[in-house]
Amino acid sequence: MKLKEQFNQKGLRITKQRQIVMEVVEKHKGRHLSSSEIFELVKENYSGIGLATIYRTLPLLEKMKLLSKICLDDGCVRYEPYAPKEQEHHHLICVKCGAVYEVEADLLGIEEKQIIMNNHFSTQNYMVKLYGYCKTCAEEDVV
Ligand SMILES: [Zn+2]
Ligand SMILES: [Zn+2]
Repeated sequence: MKLKEQFNQKGLRITKQRQIVMEVVEKHKGRHLSSSEIFELVKENYSGIGLATIYRTLPLLEKMKLLSKICLDDGCVRYEPYAPKEQEHHHLICVKCGAVYEVEADLLGIEEKQIIMNNHFSTQNYMVKLYGYCKTCAEEDVV
């Protein structure tokens, strides 16, 4: 579905700002941009935008399920394009250099699925974060 139609469906207008924010996040998919990084990148193409607008736009796009908010525990809120349940991915986070790797896999084991069932819980989506050392950092540590 086109971005414009998605906005129309929600009774919202697609503004230039909203469109550019979406474009920037999609273009840098996998980089997990923070609000201020998004702001810097948007500014390059659209100098008239203010940080306040970005802060207002991001939660709106998240509510519309166009963006997902992720928290990698580095003190800032980050965003990436929304992924439907089938295309979910998870994050491997290096605690030393902060590198983030994306993995696409069904990480729910039988046990987790059982817990979900036992609680009559229907999962909308889930995100798994695994913390550790990336290859480079792990090798550095050995030396
Ligand atoms: Zn990601
Ligand atoms: Zn690392």
